[in-house]
Amino acid sequence: MVGQNPANGIQKVCVIGSGTMGAGIAAQVANAGVPVLLLDIVPKDGNDRDAIAKGAVAKMLKTDPAPFMSKKAAKLVETGNIEDHLDKAGECDWIVEAIVERLDIKQALYEKLEAVKKPGAAVSSNTSTIPLGHLVEGRSDQFKRDFLITHFFNPPRYMRLLEIVAGPQTDADLVAKVEAFADRAMGKRVIRTHDTPGFIANRLGTYWLAVAINAAMDLGVTVEEADQIGGAPMGVPKTGIFGLVDLVGVDLMPLLSKSLADTLPKGDPYFDTIRPMPLVEKMIADGFTGRKGKGGFYKLDKGKDGSRTKMALDLATGEYRPENKPGKLPSGADRDLAKLVTLPGKTGAYAWAILGPVLSYAAMLVGEAADDIVAIDDAMKLGYNWKFGPFELIDRLGPGQLSARLTAEGKPVPAFLKAAGDQPFYRVENGKRQYLTADGSYRDVQRAAGVVLLEDIKRGAEPLLKNGSAALWDVGDGVVALEFTSKMNAFDEDIIKLIQQAIPLVKANYKALVIYNEGSNFSAGANLGLALFAVNIAAWSEIEKLIAGGQAAFKALKYAPFPVVAAPAGLALGGGCEICLNADAIQAHAETYIGLVECGVGLVPGWGGNGEMLDRAARAKMMPKGPMPPLAKVFQTVSTATVAKSAAEAREQLFLRESDGITMNRDRLLADAKAKALALVDGYAPPEPPVFKLAGASGRTGLNMAVRDFQKKGMATAYDGVVSDRLAQVLTGGDADVVDVVTEDQLLKLERKLFLESMKDARTQARVETMLTTGKPLRN
Ligand code: NAD
Repeated sequence: MVGQNPANGIQKVCVIGSGTMGAGIAAQVANAGVPVLLLDIVPKDGNDRDAIAKGAVAKMLKTDPAPFMSKKAAKLVETGNIEDHLDKAGECDWIVEAIVERLDIKQALYEKLEAVKKPGAAVSSNTSTIPLGHLVEGRSDQFKRDFLITHFFNPPRYMRLLEIVAGPQTDADLVAKVEAFADRAMGKRVIRTHDTPGFIANRLGTYWLAVAINAAMDLGVTVEEADQIGGAPMGVPKTGIFGLVDLVGVDLMPLLSKSLADTLPKGDPYFDTIRPMPLVEKMIADGFTGRKGKGGFYKLDKGKDGSRTKMALDLATGEYRPENKPGKLPSGADRDLAKLVTLPGKTGAYAWAILGPVLSYAAMLVGEAADDIVAIDDAMKLGYNWKFGPFELIDRLGPGQLSARLTAEGKPVPAFLKAAGDQPFYRVENGKRQYLTADGSYRDVQRAAGVVLLEDIKRGAEPLLKNGSAALWDVGDGVVALEFTSKMNAFDEDIIKLIQQAIPLVKANYKALVIYNEGSNFSAGANLGLALFAVNIAAWSEIEKLIAGGQAAFKALKYAPFPVVAAPAGLALGGGCEICLNADAIQAHAETYIGLVECGVGLVPGWGGNGEMLDRAARAKMMPKGPMPPLAKVFQTVSTATVAKSAAEAREQLFLRESDGITMNRDRLLADAKAKALALVDGYAPPEPPVFKLAGASGRTGLNMAVRDFQKKGMATAYDGVVSDRLAQVLTGGDADVVDVVTEDQLLKLERKLFLESMKDARTQARVETMLTTGKPLRN
């Protein structure tokens, strides 16, 4: 949890090497609230001997997506150089080496580190390819006991995978300590891998890309076709194959290939993928290194009139041509892999040309690179954002079918795959997910200690309540979880109905409620599509019902006779934010993007968000006295539709209170939310309804003056002014001059009035429509 150090024993970290990885790792340590010393070499010229590490921090403060979760975190990074400050590494409990991938340079650094580090302090390398045994050559036994490999993925804040390799002499307790810190404080899913080249994810990932690129060239498949066939149907992110190479850098491919070729044992199938690549060599030589260069397999051409045309590289001629998106895949083939690989023509051939070798290679790595299939599947899901791991893909294709086709084509069938026969790699037995092991038996998939996932609970239980948009689950220890299941987890009548049904049920039989789901986004807010539909048929009473119904449901949650904890992760916008604000407490995942975005689409928050924000601002520790400062703060946040870019930022913007919690590891969010709710149970009493002292008409005038300034500078449109004024009316208490005592209900009534007024405005309707059709705001 931010601000605390949950993995006691690691109080300070040193990262050596402030390049892409070192800087990002240091930032994530700081995001965990732990001080970190970041060292690099002394630059050849210039007066500032710390310039490289300092420059890395300065660059990160400007990088988007941001490596730091807040500006405060950046202050926890102390910079220096390895000539003057290596002795300070002696104060650290964990030293992470992330310098250039050269054995001699790494070994020379370890020799120096050995002289300064305290015994028992962990030293780890972020190497992608060098075996642990080589790294520790010449070092003492104590150093070998303290040494391991921690292989992070780029960018370290956002990629959840951490591969850990322990050597034969590494102390098991020390590995456990680093693992606990990486898991709880840095939010990583740790996967133990064997000391083999490329570990799991890069070994299989590099092989996959090489196979897919070669096959596209051999079969005459265009880059667009390759990205379609090798993308969504296989659960690969929409960048597909060539889009991914553009993203990571075309120039990285030969480097990865060389490092694997240098270290893999002879006879490894990877060597079959290596061939001369004149096209790729020319691209790199001409600066077409992908998105960071002039373009890659795709590029954007800008016309003189400012228009942009997406171009794609013709793999046969090496010339760019306008992108030519292929038509849809035949029905079903976008989901059914068995169907996809048997499609006639190059579509089926290409799908098989990827899946055949890649899934076989994965099967070959069981026992070699990892202990079991779960480690391999998790590594690909977390390291490459695949939706399904390779063994889950085999199950989708049919294990027997895969072996049969490989055999029919005279290709080797890995022993593990052969042994599996027709059996699936995963099955559910007594509500438990099990995986196939090398000895042919099934074993339960184990979660790390303390991890509770709704996904697992749902496998073995029936919901307490359920409708088309939400469900209620018993998550143990007397706690119930409210799960949204609608598209984008958007609010509709069904969610509101389920909340109302849940309250008596929890009251009668349980201790507490958590609002939690495992979608990529907690909730995108109210279902604007439904709202617009109602507008189009002038069903104003329906809209009023939705607003009043939402207010009543959120209020019922707020004053329910048991603790309610909201546990957002990902987007929590509009109503998704307001339900959190109405809870007794929030336990947020560190990667929560929360905000009241209603003004962006010409609306005002309508489900109690205004009062909750005013209340938070008035109570905030640093807030100057008087009604204006909290009002100005809330007005600024809400009128500009500010969305926090992390839970830490959400706290600065007052969406989270000091007493709310932040969980770094997504897998631990439900357990932490449950613990937070249970801690509130003893002596629980619902909150006292707040009474607001608001700024009245003069306050509204003051706020509007600020908006007019923005309008003069061209930073706000005419309609922004109207929308802001509606918000100002709510936040200042409406028309009344005397606004010393405004009850929560009066404020809710005002919210409803101005929400409806906004919804009836054609300019708001145009904004909503544009947002729904293009996903972008309309600045009318
Ligand atoms: P990089 O080139 O961006 O940064 C390397 C940094 O190390 C530079 O700032 C350099 O000045 C510094 N350095 C060189 N020698 C040093 C020394 N003796 N002492 C202190 N600093 C020194 O490299 P990177 O991409 O960050 O890679 C670092 C390590 O992480 C490598 O082992 C690499 O294989 C591994 N890795 C990289 C990625 C990736 O995606 N880039 C992913 C996982 C692992």
